[in-house]
Amino acid sequence: MKHLAGKSIPDWKKEHPILQDVSDKKEVFWTNPDYRGQHKPENLHPDAIEAAEKRLERFAPLIQTIFPETKAENGLIESPLRNIPALKAAIEDQYETKIDGRLLVKCDHDLPISGSIKARGGIYEVLKFAEETAIAGGMLALSDNYSVLNTDPFKKLFSRYQLSVGSTGNLGLSIGIMGAALGFQVTVHMSMDAKQWKKDLLRNKGVTVKEYEDDYSKAVEEGRKQALTDSRCHFIDDENSEDLFLGYATAASRLKRQLKEKGILVDHDHPLFVYLPCGVGGGPGGVAFGLKQIFQENVHCFFAEPTHSPCFLLGLVTGLHNGVSVQDFDLDNRTAADGLAVGRASGFVGKTVGQMLSGSYTINDDRLFSLLKTTADTENIYLEPSALAGFYGPVQLFNEASGKQFLNEQGLNEKMKNATHIVWATGGSMVPKEEIERYYLRGSEI
Ligand SMILES: *Cc1c(COP(=O)(O)O)cnc(C)c1O
Repeated sequence: MKHLAGKSIPDWKKEHPILQDVSDKKEVFWTNPDYRGQHKPENLHPDAIEAAEKRLERFAPLIQTIFPETKAENGLIESPLRNIPALKAAIEDQYETKIDGRLLVKCDHDLPISGSIKARGGIYEVLKFAEETAIAGGMLALSDNYSVLNTDPFKKLFSRYQLSVGSTGNLGLSIGIMGAALGFQVTVHMSMDAKQWKKDLLRNKGVTVKEYEDDYSKAVEEGRKQALTDSRCHFIDDENSEDLFLGYATAASRLKRQLKEKGILVDHDHPLFVYLPCGVGGGPGGVAFGLKQIFQENVHCFFAEPTHSPCFLLGLVTGLHNGVSVQDFDLDNRTAADGLAVGRASGFVGKTVGQMLSGSYTINDDRLFSLLKTTADTENIYLEPSALAGFYGPVQLFNEASGKQFLNEQGLNEKMKNATHIVWATGGSMVPKEEIERYYLRGSEI
C-alpha cells in the first residue's frame, strides 16, 4: 500500500477527514488551524520587498520606453482595482447568499505586457537578472537612467545569455516577452496544458518553445536540468524562486495606495479579505506575504484551487508542502484552469506563508465557467478560467459551516458590514477572442 511520510493514505484521511472529500473531488472550504494573525517567517525578511520595489522603480523609465502602454502608470506594471456591484448582486442572487461588505476585483488580467499576474513575478526576475548582468559587465550603475538598456551594446551583452523556464503557459509568456525584448535568448518548457496561442505568440518573438506530453512538474524539471549544463543560462525556478515571490509581493503596497485612493479603510474594525487563485503558490503566496506585512491581522488571505489540482491545500493540510502531490490522493491534475494545473506545490512558498493564510478552498471547472459567463454579463470583464477561482471565495465564506465558524472564532461577525472583499482576477486579457467565445459558450451551457 502507498505510504506518505510513513502513513497510509487511508490513515491520512482518518486523521484529516477533509482529505476524503478532496480525494472525491468535492468542493471544500478549509480554514487553517495553524493560522497566526501576526507572523514573521524566519526564511525571508520583509525588507526584501522594499528592495524589489526600488528595483522596479529603477526600471520604470526603460519599461515605459519599450512598452508605451505602461506610460499611464509611469512605467510601473500595475492594474486597476474595480468596484463590481452588478456582479456582487448577481452572485448573491445565484448562490442565495448575502456577501456582507463591499466586493472589488483586482484586475491583474489587465496587467500590461503579458495580461496575467505573472507580469509581476516573472518580469521582475528577468529585470533583476538583466540588472545584475549589466552591472557585472561594468556597463551599468544603479544611479543610471535604465533606458540605456534598450540600446545595442546591452542587447549584444544580453544575447550571450539564456533564460529558461518551465510553465503551464503564462509564466512562459511573461519571461518570453520581457526576455526577448531585452535581447536574451529564451527557452520555455511548456507542459501539455499550455495553449497553442501562447506557444505561437512566443515563437513569433523568437523564443524557443519546447513541448512536453506531461504536466507542469515535468516541464520545470526539464528546464532545470538543461539550465544546469550551461553557466550562461539563468533558470527561472517557479517552484523555489525568491525573486519571483518578491516580484509578486510588490503588489501589496500598490494595493494599499489604491485602497487609500478609494477611501477604503483597512484596520481592526474594517477587515480585508483577499481571494487568490493558486497554482504552484508563488503568485498568491507573494501577494499574501506582502499584504500580511502591511495589514497584519486585519487582512485574511484565502487561496483557491481546482478540485482536480488542489496541491497547495494538500500541502497545508498534511503539513508536507511539496512532499505530497495530487496524484498521491488519486487526483488527475486535469482542469480547464490551465494556469492552476499544478500537481505539486512549492515547498518554499508553503513554508513561508503556511501560517499566514486564513484558509484555502477548491472549486470545480463547471463553476469556473459559470462564473466566467456571469462576470462577462454583469461587468463586461472577460477572464480566463483560472482567474475565476477567487470569485467563489466570498460565497463559501458566508455559506459554508467552516467559513461561519472562522468568522465567529476570529470575532469578525460584527465587523463584516465594514469588510472589503477583493477577488484577484489573475489573467485573461491576452486570450484570443475565439478562445474567450468558446469559454463563454461553455459557461452558457451549464
Ligand atoms: C500562474 C497563475 C496563477 C497562480 O500562480 P502560481 O504562482 O502558479 O500559484 C493564477 N492564475 C493565473 C491566470 C495564472 O497564470
